[in-house]
Amino acid sequence: MNLEIPKYISNYIGGQFCAPRNAQYLDNVNPATAEVYSYIPDSTAADVQDAVHAAQQAFPAWSNASTDFRFRVLNKIAELIETNLAVFAMAETNDNGKPLTLSTRVDIPRASENFRFFATAALHFASESHSMADKAINYTLRKPIGVVGCISPWNLPLYLFTWKIAPALASGNCVVAKPSEVTPMTAYLLCHLCEEAGLPAGVLNIVHGNGSHCGSEIVKHPDIKAISFTGSTRAGKDIASIAAPMFKKISLELGGKNPNIIFADCDWDKMMRTTVQSSFANQGQICLCGSRILVEESVYEKFKTEFIARVKGMVIGDPLDENSKQGAVVSNVHFDKVMSCITLAKEEGGIILLGGNAVRLEGRCAKGYFIEPTIIEGLLPGCRTNMEEIFGPVVTLQSFKNEEDALLKANASEYGLAATIWTQDIGRANKMAAAIQSGIIWVNCWLLRDLRTPFGGFKSSGVGREGGWEAMRFFTEPKNVAIEF
Ligand code: NAD
Repeated sequence: MNLEIPKYISNYIGGQFCAPRNAQYLDNVNPATAEVYSYIPDSTAADVQDAVHAAQQAFPAWSNASTDFRFRVLNKIAELIETNLAVFAMAETNDNGKPLTLSTRVDIPRASENFRFFATAALHFASESHSMADKAINYTLRKPIGVVGCISPWNLPLYLFTWKIAPALASGNCVVAKPSEVTPMTAYLLCHLCEEAGLPAGVLNIVHGNGSHCGSEIVKHPDIKAISFTGSTRAGKDIASIAAPMFKKISLELGGKNPNIIFADCDWDKMMRTTVQSSFANQGQICLCGSRILVEESVYEKFKTEFIARVKGMVIGDPLDENSKQGAVVSNVHFDKVMSCITLAKEEGGIILLGGNAVRLEGRCAKGYFIEPTIIEGLLPGCRTNMEEIFGPVVTLQSFKNEEDALLKANASEYGLAATIWTQDIGRANKMAAAIQSGIIWVNCWLLRDLRTPFGGFKSSGVGREGGWEAMRFFTEPKNVAIEF
């Protein structure tokens, strides 16, 4: 199979590659070079309507297909992603600015894993039965919802896109999906693999475009009965305000401001290595990154000195260079946002311990959007820098006195996505894990993911959970049948 990177990306509707009806396109920029290298459909309500129509046509056959057929097609897509790893990884890096080593080792393999995992879920998904002694039996049918909408962000483009569409398809739905307009290429390439794998026309429809013209049309469409969204809390609020009065099912995976809590008794070397990763992986653009580092008072100065030394050693460079540990941030707009957050931190009295500046590289990447990994201290827990999501290579350091103080600071945020705890005291780890208001807690590790576990956040980090049976349940409607003996 020969996958080519097109100049003009197409929508994929009813098994056809097609231009947007209005023939309007948006620029697709490589953030490492700041060059426009392709164009993205600026799709509108008319394209979404076409996609919904195609999905409705395909739904009866797909929802009634055997689970074995669904398994085979989705598993084939997983295989094809693996076979085409190099093309996909390069496309992801050119769209997103992340190091090619990261796309190759993490993003694209994980997209394939998502398809394989949910392909097998199609085979194993079962529903409950409740026996009422010798009186009756209840059993639950789980029916696919129909046409569902999946909308994803730019930070882990194919990884998060497939995390939604794979369970939606595995449970028998037809999908209208929109990747981020900032990183559309791998979702486009995926359509070719779907064709090759024998996914029937109309089962998966991909429309490209921005949030206001295209994303909100998916949310508003009366025949799209569920919305699975990952992105900012701001967009999540808008989506909930439209979808809730229409009584749509919604799953919202939103922003975070995650605490990384470090006690003096931790495995120091493992904590240091992992904290560099959890702070700056993917230029800090992972919703699970620990952006508020809380360190026990007695080891605060030691931590600060070692952390700065290690982060100083990270190579910022061309994402295609295998030595680069930090690539570009995703766009000019995001570059400006992160830089303005650093300015705000200084205005709030923050002391920049490391970084704080744009990086100007030589050669191919001379115009790219690179920012130094930035470490800030001296800010109060409630200031804007410690409250608002930055989503870039910026962390703050705060010290804490004891467990109570650590908890108070960890829970001070309106977000509640993830938290990391470093301690060798198992009792303390369990107590803290139970008391922290976050959907995901890592003890002595970070980003250790098992696809069967519930994934999602408390508070402003979202509504609902993805992953494993949670996702399969989200994409199905339960129906109880009671039979009296
Ligand atoms: P974003 O909200 O700007 O956009 C996300 C997607 O939604 C894009 O496809 C966009 O076009 C679309 N969109 C935007 N506004 C919309 C609207 N009103 N209606 C419908 N669709 C709309 O987010 P982003 O900048 O692409 O991504 C970064 C954000 O995503 C961060 O806040 C990050 O924390 C969050 N995120 C969360 C998770 C998680 O699992 N909780 C994972 C990754 C990223």
